[in-house]
Amino acid sequence: MLVAGERITHVGDSETAIPAGVRTIEAPCVVPGLINAHVHLEMSGEAQTTSVFVLTTPTQRALACAENARKTISSGVTTVRDLGSTENLAIDVRDAVAAGRIPGPTVLAAGRAVCMTGGHGWFVGREADGELDVRVAVREQRRDGADCIKFIATGGVLTKGAVPGIEQLDEDELRSGIAEAHKHGMRCAAHAIGAGGIRNALRAGIDSIEHGHLVDDEGIALFLEHDTYLVPTLAAIRCIVEGGENAGMPDFVLRKARDIAEHAATNLKKALAAGVKFAGGSDAGTPFNAHDAYAYELELMQSMLGMSARQALRTATVAGADLLGIDRGTLGVGHVADLLLLRSEIESDARPYRTPIAVVKAGALVGALAHAAA
Ligand SMILES: [Zn+2]
Repeated sequence: MLVAGERITHVGDSETAIPAGVRTIEAPCVVPGLINAHVHLEMSGEAQTTSVFVLTTPTQRALACAENARKTISSGVTTVRDLGSTENLAIDVRDAVAAGRIPGPTVLAAGRAVCMTGGHGWFVGREADGELDVRVAVREQRRDGADCIKFIATGGVLTKGAVPGIEQLDEDELRSGIAEAHKHGMRCAAHAIGAGGIRNALRAGIDSIEHGHLVDDEGIALFLEHDTYLVPTLAAIRCIVEGGENAGMPDFVLRKARDIAEHAATNLKKALAAGVKFAGGSDAGTPFNAHDAYAYELELMQSMLGMSARQALRTATVAGADLLGIDRGTLGVGHVADLLLLRSEIESDARPYRTPIAVVKAGALVGALAHAAA
């Protein structure tokens, strides 16, 4: 494979003469740079999510964002979609990375998540009630530079008193906000765990359901009818269940996570078998869910959902690019050279992702090897 400037210029046999003066790197396996369609750069896997926002200053969180952006790109994730930050931090990080001030992946950012008053994540989101207010909230995010919009359609695990199964923003509110976002060409994601909220968001025209853990048969039918993506965030739940014990995590969080974990695999497998489109996203930043551990999400796609290694890779590359509406995730002449160079083929497990030989972003060396060369 030859890369010139930002793009791939040749793919094929090794007979092709390599132009003089070109830097060469040998790797047994090359895959597209990974796309994580659900992260929170502002959070670093703390056990107590809520206190992050109470006990730290915006400046401290901005520094955390920069650190997490660096970890992300070093681990081979070349694009992320940040689904909710305070103070427009993820938007500013996106611009700082694009300007070359700090290392990081290409960032698409949602600004603040739009939730009902007292809804899941209300302390960091933009509370909005009624069709008009939700519309205004979307306009505010657009004004502040957001690329996409995140709506909260059900309760969640990390907010006290928010029951994951219960609906929050209602269908009319979602429909109004989504119509406003789509008018401006912005795509929409809905945090939705419970079956009712999933159905509301799908009927309202959402572009992706985040989590989707309690999806039912009617929801699966709506997914197929509307051709909507599901971003399963498997690591978010597994990390809490595995790491939460004796780690100072609130009881209410652990209880909710265990409850969901019990049903998530069964429901998501059913959706996958029915033909629902999946795109990779890990909810990186949530408790014990690190920004440089996206490999774990790919492992879980295989172990929990029964995907093949190739299917998991496609979910975390081509499908993610399609969901985000960007020219990424494909190895071919003319495509942007976001590449991950691995020590071995990806077969039964996702281990090779954990220690890449090199990471290339838009034709430039940014990962492991780049640091060694420097
Ligand atoms: Zn999230």
